[in-house]
Amino acid sequence: MSIWKRRPTTTVDIGGVKVGSDHPVVVQSMTNTDTADIESTVRQVAELHLAGSELVRVTVNNDEAAAAVPEIVDRLADSGLDVPIIGDFHYNGHLLLDRHPACARALAKYRINPGNVGTKRRDENFTKIVQIAVENDKPIRIGVNWGSLDQALLTELMDENSRLAKPKEAQAVLRDAMVESAMRSAELAERTGLPADRILLSAKVSEVPELIAVYRQIAPLSRYPLHLGLTEAGMGAKGIVATTAGIGPLLIDGIGDTIRVSLTPEPGGDRSEEVRVAQQILQSLSIRSFEPQVTSCPGCGRTTSTFFQEMAQDIQGYLRERMPEWREVYPGVEDLSVAVMGCVVNGPGESRHADIGISLPGTFEEPKAPVYVDGEHFTTLKGEGLVEEFKGILLDYVHKRYGNGAEATAPTEASGASG
Ligand code: SF4
Repeated sequence: MSIWKRRPTTTVDIGGVKVGSDHPVVVQSMTNTDTADIESTVRQVAELHLAGSELVRVTVNNDEAAAAVPEIVDRLADSGLDVPIIGDFHYNGHLLLDRHPACARALAKYRINPGNVGTKRRDENFTKIVQIAVENDKPIRIGVNWGSLDQALLTELMDENSRLAKPKEAQAVLRDAMVESAMRSAELAERTGLPADRILLSAKVSEVPELIAVYRQIAPLSRYPLHLGLTEAGMGAKGIVATTAGIGPLLIDGIGDTIRVSLTPEPGGDRSEEVRVAQQILQSLSIRSFEPQVTSCPGCGRTTSTFFQEMAQDIQGYLRERMPEWREVYPGVEDLSVAVMGCVVNGPGESRHADIGISLPGTFEEPKAPVYVDGEHFTTLKGEGLVEEFKGILLDYVHKRYGNGAEATAPTEASGASG
């Protein structure tokens, strides 16, 4: 459904999930458990997947983690969770994948950071991982990160730059080095025998303007799908806003085939928040739909009670709660739009734009709430049972519009409206 023209790419199959411009932008996430702790890791992968993560990456940093991977993959499959697991390797990936062939087989993709595969034997170690990927028919992501950039390459480009009549700024050379590192590594992977449609690239930084600049620079150079994400985005509102500000313009440019939101959770916080944010970014840009959207106004001096905020929250919660069932029974319901508005100023107009909307009375307005369905005034609610009555109308609408072959018509007043 995306309205933005995607940059054309190859398609990479990651354990059955297709990533590339012919397919929807894929949401992925990463665990923060010790991978060697099989139980915790399985639980968190399941949570992330049930929240909507279509791929989940786990850290593979030592023998214990590598040895745990096949069991994690098996337990997920036994629970009926079909989610490809990606291994995140740094420094010793060539050794671990070699020592743990069952791990190499169980993973759906290997992530390699070319800046973290050694210095003297960098190409040899990188090649070793690629050979294992070829033997196991696995894709790899060449994931460059400015925090762990190949220092030899950076020095080489800095030296070249200093010899220019008009040297570039250091930041531009850093971007060049990231792009060059990714492209040279991809070339080496192909020369080692990995088909082009087994390669994805990423070039992550933690500053929004730099993220946009480096992806715009790397995107035209190949047809490899791009994994998009602002690394180390931070906590809470800062992390969400910075990620959206960075990823949004790139997605509008058609750049990005899979996204990950790298939020720092609160201690003991819900890791799945990063999945919901990723989905919301895609849905806000009309790239994909995941759940019905509630449009609600911010409220102002015209609506001084908290009733309208509570109702907006209640309806949002109701929709979220019903979605696991609705997704199965009412295909397409994720495109539904609902408006809950605070007063007559923008309430009726915004409610008409939504599939179904309610305009609550402002402080000095008559205590009645007109409901609009498919742009037309449907009924007017008032009194204490208003929220439940609106939910009844909503449910009836969903059933009629998205239920088995039913006509997309407005509900009847008999559906619960009090008039
Ligand atoms: S719709 Fe009414 S209550 Fe909501 S922000 Fe606008 S004027 Fe204020």
